[in-house]
Order: sequence, then structure tokens, then C-alpha cells
Amino acid sequence: MPEQEVTLHDYDRYLTGLFAPEDEALRATREEMAREAIPRMFVSASEGKLLQVLARMIGARRVLEIGTLGGYSTQWLARALPADGKLISLEIDERHAAVAQRNLARAGVTDQVEVRLGPAAVTLAAMRAAGEAPFDLVFIDADKEGYPGYLEQAVPLTRDGGLILADNALSHSALDSTADSGIARFNAAVAAHPQLLAIIVPVLRGRGIDGLLVAVKQ
Ligand code: SAH
Ligand code: MG
Repeated sequence: MPEQEVTLHDYDRYLTGLFAPEDEALRATREEMAREAIPRMFVSASEGKLLQVLARMIGARRVLEIGTLGGYSTQWLARALPADGKLISLEIDERHAAVAQRNLARAGVTDQVEVRLGPAAVTLAAMRAAGEAPFDLVFIDADKEGYPGYLEQAVPLTRDGGLILADNALSHSALDSTADSGIARFNAAVAAHPQLLAIIVPVLRGRGIDGLLVAVKQ
């Protein structure tokens, strides 16, 4: 097809079809989220696959997710873990957590995944106070105003050489210099952080793009 007619949606369909086809559990998860009128805030399949590849690349055994929703990104990440791996996912909304539990059970990953209910800032503080073992990978994807605080809590919870990932790093509010945006403050804090080597990878999302921030702790 002539180059000018190729849309972002075409690129997304191409690479999703080739590298990120959904299995039955992922498809059922999206269907159940639609049935339950859960907001469409989950990662695209191609971004889910990117999460999975990154987790496997560092041999992740312990993963922390902030923002579960219906357990869609959770499944992509859980599938990267070894059988004795562990993923803890933090969610404030009881209804989202209940839908996620059903979806995770259908996907057969309940042995590896634990959903912890409550405001993430509180749960993270409790985890640090309890001396929680460090994580190989932390994926931040909850309320955007909370991102700067989650970064502060995530760094000490991540092992050296581990990854801190964040979704929606290229949301429109990040680029609007007149807006006071949690994402903009988060991106700037990561870029300036002495222990983090980072970049934002643009990701395709249906008809548009967003960004996955990828930071390695050193
Ligand atoms: N990671 C999911 C999408 C998460 S959407 C996926 O890609 O499949 C963001 C989620 O964060 C929502 O479910 C919302 O209820 C939750 N959330 C919002 N504020 C929160 C908070 N303070 N603590 C924990 N979770 C929160
Ligand atoms: Mg997101």
C-alpha cells in the first residue's frame, strides 16, 4: 500500500497479529471487562508483549504491579515468570480487583499472582516497613497524580539491575507545558534520577500512540 495511506492502526494490527496474538484467557479478560463496564484503560496487546519480553529479558522472578484493573497487563507479565515466580498487584478499587481475580483464575495464574487491595501509597509503605524482598521489575500504571510518589517508593523496592516501567508516559498531559501533570513530573524525576538509566519507548495503542517508560536501576 502507498506509504501515505499507512495509519498507526495498520502498524498496530500488523505487529500485534505477528507478535502479540491473544490467547483465549486474554480475549476472555477483555470481554469480561467490557461486560462489567470497566474503563478501557488497559495496555494494548503489543505493549503487553513488550512488558513480557522485558520481564523475561532480566529473568524476572518477582514483579510488582501498581494498578491491576481487570488483570490484563497482569497476565502478560505473569506469563513471563517461572512456575515459582511471584507477582504482587496493587489495586484500590474492590470491583476491579474482583473482576481481575476471576480473569486471573481463568488464566491459571492465581498461584503466582496476589492482588492487594488498598491505596497503593499505603500498601507500598507497609511493604517497605515489613521489609519486603526487592523486586526484579516494578510496573507503574495506577492514578497518574500518584506517579511521582510511586517512583520514590519503587526505587528502594527494586533490586540493582532491575527495571522500573511506567505506562502512559507519553499521555497528552505530559507534553502540555501549561498543565500541572503528574506524568510530566514523574518523567522529569526519572530523567534526573542518579540511580536510573531511562528512556520512553513510544508504543502503539489502537489508533494512537502512548509511551512506556523503561528505567534500569543501577
Ligand atoms: N495495568 C492495567 C491498567 C490499570 S488502570 C492494565 O494495563 O491492564 C489503573 C488502575 O489503577 C485502575 O484499576 C484504578 O482503580 C487503579 N488505581 C487508581 N488509583 C489507585 C491507587 N491510589 N492505588 C491503587 N490503585 C489505584
Ligand atoms: Mg495505563
